[in-house]
Order: sequence, then C-alpha cells, then structure tokens
Amino acid sequence: MNITVLEVQAWLDDFAKKIEENKDYLSLLDTPIGDGDHGNNMSRGMAEYKKSLEDKQPNTISDTFKILAMALISKVGGASGPLYGTAFMNMTKATVGIDVISSYEELSKVIEQGQIGISTRGKADFGDKTMLDVWIPVVSSIKDENFNDEIIENAKNATKDLVAKKGRASYVGERAIGHIDPGATSSSYLFETLLNYI
Ligand code: ADP
Ligand code: MG
Repeated sequence: MNITVLEVQAWLDDFAKKIEENKDYLSLLDTPIGDGDHGNNMSRGMAEYKKSLEDKQPNTISDTFKILAMALISKVGGASGPLYGTAFMNMTKATVGIDVISSYEELSKVIEQGQIGISTRGKADFGDKTMLDVWIPVVSSIKDENFNDEIIENAKNATKDLVAKKGRASYVGERAIGHIDPGATSSSYLFETLLNYI
C-alpha cells in the first residue's frame, strides 16, 4: 500500500463521481425514511470540494482532507454534512506530517479517527441504522487486514432490517424496516472507492 496525496485525491475524485452517478438513488433511499435530500446534499458538498481543490491546490494528505471537511460543513445543510465534516476534520488531524500511508495499521488509525468523530458528534451506536453501521465494521476489517467489497456491501445491507435510533429515520419508527439507510450507502461508496488504492 502506497497512499500518497495523489492517491487520496484520486480516491476522493472517484467518490465524488460515485456520488454524482448515484445522486438520485441516494435521495430516493432518503424519501421513505427521511426528507429525500441525501443525494442532493452529498452532491452539493462534493461539488464544493472539487471547486475548492482547484482553487487551493493542496499538496498534502492532511490539507486535502481539510478542504473536504470544510466543503461538507459549509455546503451540506443536512445532518450528514457536519457528521462527514467532523470525520474528515479528524482525519485532517490524524494525517498531519504524514506523506504516505503504507500499511493497514496506519490506514486503520486514520479511518478510525474519522469514525470517532462521527460517533462523538452524532452519539449513535453500531446498529442504530446510520452511516456508522458501515464505518465501524470497515475500521475493524482494515485492522484485521481483510477489508473488502463484501464487508462493505454486507454492512450497508444490514441497515435494511433495522429500526433507526438516530436522525430523521428515527421519526418513522418501525416503518424504517425494509429500507437501506442512505448515509450508510454513501459511506459504502467512500470505502468501495478506497479499495482501488490499497
Ligand atoms: P438529514 O437527515 O438532515 O436530511 P441527510 O439526509 O443528508 O441529512 O443524511 C441522513 C443520513 O445521516 C442518515 O441516513 C444517517 O446515515 C446519517 N445520520 C443521521 N443522524 C446521524 C447520527 N446521529 N449519527 C450518525 N449518522 C447519522
Ligand atoms: Mg435527508
């Protein structure tokens, strides 16, 4: 594994593309259990990231995550903006002075700091039908060096049968059952695209 600033920017570019391609689907997932805006929210945030990246041309991993964090915090109105924003802000701090991420151990520390940011800010636990249901198993699988597509896909799909304990989806109670969580889905895109650089 040789993840430098080039791979980080390529990864986030792939993530932005994946969000754009699935924007309508993400908002559709957010319709029965939320307010139908998750795809639009994420798309707005990633468009701002790309614009800001052009303007600032960061040359470190840490500064790249910082630009993403600021873009998401400033442009995403929904709950997901500050949550993803906090994750990437923690990843900014976790990568200060780091030019290359070269092992699963190093990568797990960075992603884990992101997960801790979401947990601290959103106060959700594993199984509450949120994006954390993907972040938590992903951190474990990176630590165990068995991070793969199947783990991401299964973690995302497992949100389908849950009642939500946090966020808007918690308002619909049992009616949330049968619907995959939109934030878990956008997080699955983040980690699927990361797999290409490992
Ligand atoms: P909003 O709910 O404000 O409309 P979005 O639709 O953009 O914001 O994002 C909804 C997603 O945010 C949910 O699918 C869920 O994954 C995530 N989410 C909501 N609340 C929390 C929380 N407290 N902790 C972690 N993730 C959360
Ligand atoms: Mg929403």
